[in-house]
Amino acid sequence: MIQVECPECGERFEVESNVLFLLNRFYCSVCDVMLEVIEEEPLVLDVVDEEFLEDDDVDEDDDWGVE
Ligand SMILES: [Zn+2]
Repeated sequence: MIQVECPECGERFEVESNVLFLLNRFYCSVCDVMLEVIEEEPLVLDVVDEEFLEDDDVDEDDDWGVE
């Protein structure tokens, strides 16, 4: 287990080391907020705002290279 600090509530809690890989998401065991690993070395966690999780429609015809 590895101790991490929640950026939301500031409390420390332990997670399995195998969840700490880049862009993985897991929940704070203290405040239940969803966290995402945004940096592995050094470890940086960020809060994921779940209200925006479904806002995932990447615009694929991104034509900023219009001729
Ligand atoms: Zn927390």
